Amino acid sequence: MIARRELFPNIIELNYQARRRFGCCVYLVFSDTDWALVDIGYEDTVEELIDLIRNMDFPLTNCRYLIATHADADHVQGFKRAAELLPNAQIVAHPDAKRILEAGDRIASYAEIPAQEISIDMPILVIQKTVVDGDVLELGDLKLDVWDTPGHATGQLSLRLNNLLLSGDNIFRDGCVGGIDAHHGSDIPAFISSLKRIQGSDVDWLLPSHGPAFGNDHALLQSTIERLEGYQHMADFGTCAVDWPLLDEWDDELAKGTPPVK
Ligand SMILES: [Zn+2]
Repeated sequence: MIARRELFPNIIELNYQARRRFGCCVYLVFSDTDWALVDIGYEDTVEELIDLIRNMDFPLTNCRYLIATHADADHVQGFKRAAELLPNAQIVAHPDAKRILEAGDRIASYAEIPAQEISIDMPILVIQKTVVDGDVLELGDLKLDVWDTPGHATGQLSLRLNNLLLSGDNIFRDGCVGGIDAHHGSDIPAFISSLKRIQGSDVDWLLPSHGPAFGNDHALLQSTIERLEGYQHMADFGTCAVDWPLLDEWDDELAKGTPPVK
C-alpha cells in the first residue's frame, strides 16, 4: 500500500503522487466510493499509472469516468488501454473532441505533424458519454461542473470542483498557453474568452494539464490575455489572426505611392 498524497482534498495528481514526471498531468478525483481520471497521457505509461492507483487502494472497478480534457494524443493516447483495465469507466469528452477521436483525425489530435516527421499511434477511441458547458458529472457525493473552454483546441473541457479548476491547456504557471495552431483547431478569440472566464471566476486554484498547480492570479491571466489580444492582429500565428493592420497601411501607401521609409 502507498500513502495517498492529495494535492487538494479529493484530488491526487499522479506525477505529484509519484514524485516524478510521466507526461501530462493526470488527475484522479475521488469521492468516498467512486473515482475518475482526467486525462491519462501516453499509452506506454498507462500500466504503471494504474498500478500506482491500485497500490493507493482505489478499487479499479470503482472508476466511473475517463475524462478527456481535449483530443490531443499526449493527453488521451492511453485511454484505450486504460479502459481495458477499468471495466466500469466511461470515456467522456466534448462532442467536438469525440468527433476528432472517433474519426481518427490524426492532424487535429497532434498524432501526425508531417512537417516535423512526427507520427505516433493514436487508437480510435469510442466516446461513451459527451458533456457540454453547464453539465455536471457526479462522482459519489462530488459534483464536477463542466466548462467548455475552447481556444487551444476545439472541444476543450475544464472541470470545476468547488474552488478548484482543472483547467486543461488554457494557461500554465509561467503564463504560457497551449499551442496555437490552425491545423489543430485553435481559435484565438475563443481562447481569450476562455481565459477571461477563468480570470473573472471565483476559482482560487488552477490545476493545469502540464506543470504544477498555481493560483488564479489576476495579473498573470491579464498579461496572458493581453499577449493573445496582440496575436489577433499579428501575422505570427498566420490564419489564426483576425486581421493584420500592416496590410491596411500598405494599401494606403500603395495608393499614395509612398516611397520606402526608414
Ligand atoms: Zn497539452
